Amino acid sequence: MLAASRRWRGEGLDIGLVPTMGALHAGHLSLIEHARRENRIVVVSVFVNPIQFGAGEDFARYPRDPDRDADLLRRAGVDAVYQPSVAVMYPPGSSTRVHVGGVGDPLEGAARPGHFEGVATVVSKLFAAVEPDRAYFGQKDAQQVAVVKRLALDLDVPVEIRVGPTVREPDGLALSSRNAYLSAEERVAAACLSSALALAASAYANGERSPEKLRKALCRRLEAEPLARVEYAEVVDPETFRPPGSLAVLAVRIGATRLIDNHDLSKEFPG
Ligand code: AMP
Repeated sequence: MLAASRRWRGEGLDIGLVPTMGALHAGHLSLIEHARRENRIVVVSVFVNPIQFGAGEDFARYPRDPDRDADLLRRAGVDAVYQPSVAVMYPPGSSTRVHVGGVGDPLEGAARPGHFEGVATVVSKLFAAVEPDRAYFGQKDAQQVAVVKRLALDLDVPVEIRVGPTVREPDGLALSSRNAYLSAEERVAAACLSSALALAASAYANGERSPEKLRKALCRRLEAEPLARVEYAEVVDPETFRPPGSLAVLAVRIGATRLIDNHDLSKEFPG
């Protein structure tokens, strides 16, 4: 991968990297499109990163569909797919972990201990393997974006972090590879995340600024959904991920499936 990247760079071509865990959907494809508009070369990595899953999480059953992914990536016209094995990423003896303190600690960091270390470690390795000019991440994983921006700054990685908007289903549900876990009934219930965000955004538009009241607006809608169990619902600063701020962030279980979503309440909710 690095040899190919350096050859392209030597030819004066700029390189955009889109990291994914595969099971590709329209959210991934919109990041790839974004990367194609801004770079001569687009590299997509496909790697289900074992170290960002906690014990008891869904690593083993995470959706994998390499043939379909390959087909979508071919049709999207990407220049290279980097698909290392776990043994190549983490050979025996590999023991270094990248910890992004501060922004990586609350919310997702607290709910999933070790998750952001796994993300920061694999993203560091992807940056080293591809040496991209720009790397593309989805706003869907807002705290991950903040962690990756902090990492690139703190480790002096010469990459520009670019963020793409969340792609949603017609009823507002954010696309996610994990939506495949939902039963038909759960799929209907899962719309409560986006409708809670939309309700909080309209409260904000009507002048509500109290973090506690905005939080309650989110929870009221989520708790009205019998299949939903709220893990967290907060309104935070988009850089520190601590209150106060205007970014509403949610983690909600629908049955056994854990879903996350977020929205900047100072903006109108799409749709
Ligand atoms: P994943 O394969 O879930 O690790 O996601 C790979 C990249 O796609 C991450 O930067 C995600 O934030 C982004 N992504 C996931 N879902 C969406 C979505 N619905 N809209 C836009 N980007 C997304």
